[in-house]
Amino acid sequence: MAKPIFITPNWSAPENITAYTTTREGGVSQGDFEGLNVGMHVGDCENAVAQNRAKLPEAQKIVWLNQVHGNSVIELANDRVFDDVPTADAAITRSSIHHCAVMTADCVPILLCDSKGTQVAAVHAGWQGMYKEIIAATVQRFDISAKNLIAWIGPSICGKCYEVDEELARRFCTYAEAITQGSSAGKFQLNLPLVAFKQLSNIGVGQIFQSNLCTYCSHETFYSHRRATHNGLSSTGRIVSVIGLR
Ligand SMILES: [Zn+2]
Repeated sequence: MAKPIFITPNWSAPENITAYTTTREGGVSQGDFEGLNVGMHVGDCENAVAQNRAKLPEAQKIVWLNQVHGNSVIELANDRVFDDVPTADAAITRSSIHHCAVMTADCVPILLCDSKGTQVAAVHAGWQGMYKEIIAATVQRFDISAKNLIAWIGPSICGKCYEVDEELARRFCTYAEAITQGSSAGKFQLNLPLVAFKQLSNIGVGQIFQSNLCTYCSHETFYSHRRATHNGLSSTGRIVSVIGLR
């Protein structure tokens, strides 16, 4: 079995930060979930998911979340023990004991750290999370100014691949550049990674880097919920974006 292949952010984070996003490569899941699926909740064999998760660097440090497309941010404090999977869509830590992680399959994963390498966060930002301002909610939990933060926008569905109806497009009318006319009447293309960029920029995050990787375009590398739906499947796997302090 091939080893997992990770994507590391092309950013200027300090040396003591561990950050990566998984791909489908190197896992034991089969069938519709083939590859390194880390989503325990998607209908894949739990044993396979556990084996896939165990392949991740310092796997025991990763705190998995029950993600609900909300805007709550959990702090992974030094002394905190996670017997149950906490419900949140973002995690922040100042401890090297816990690593922050968010699972995605088209939604936008965002990794954040401060320029001194003392605190890190991971955000699961789909349209719902961004509409509910989860990015701002996470940035507010850092105890330094946003201008000292570095962000990376990970692999997610691109504007060309994400068609939405007018009602959804209208929710993001503040970000006019992120919306273009779709292929038919009443349809629009929504650029979620650009909305993420704008939100990070508007709250003053000092440095913002973009992966420019699309989960739908590169469906052999990533899981894509939209692609799975277009192929008549009700579910697909998840990649995970992880950040931690060493
Ligand atoms: Zn695309």
